[in-house]
Amino acid sequence: MKVVTTHLGAPDNRGRQRPEPIPNSEEIIPCDAVIMAFGFRPSPADWFESQQVAMDSSGRVLAAEKQTFKFQTKNPKIFAGGDMVRGSDLVVTAIWEGREAAEGILDFLEV
Ligand SMILES: Cc1cc2nc3c(=O)[nH]c(=O)nc-3n(C[C@H](O)[C@H](O)[C@H](O)COP(=O)(O)OP(=O)(O)OC[C@H]3O[C@@H](n4cnc5c(N)ncnc54)[C@H](O)[C@@H]3O)c2cc1C
Repeated sequence: MKVVTTHLGAPDNRGRQRPEPIPNSEEIIPCDAVIMAFGFRPSPADWFESQQVAMDSSGRVLAAEKQTFKFQTKNPKIFAGGDMVRGSDLVVTAIWEGREAAEGILDFLEV
């Protein structure tokens, strides 16, 4: 496996620093097998379509924050938040969206 050491570059226009390779820091690590055990793309469930859970073209669930019932999907009884809606983000964002979706569910049940 070939690896490279990185450091954080200058902040972009959103203030986000991205890793940049440090020149000549490449290293080869001998391996018998390499298992990729993480991912950044949605893996939509096969029942979404039959349950009218709409998605965008990349497979993320459509569940807007700003609507009558926060984070409600196209199926009124299903709410969603976190990476499955937003794409890869921070854990605090997923927690916040889960809490907001819970409020959306409560509002929906009180109607
Ligand atoms: C490699 C990596 C590094 C990261 N580092 C950071 C970091 O340093 N700081 C940070 O803030 N964020 C980090 N994140 C992002 C953070 O982990 C996610 O934003 C957050 O976990 C999203 O939470 P979630 O609840 O939306 O989804 P998840 O945490 O992915 O939770 C979804 C859960 O649903 C379960 N599930 C899936 N399908 C089914 C099913 N059919 N039935 C029942 N359960 C199911 C999964 O097993 C999983 O437990 C990182 C992400 C990755 C991939």
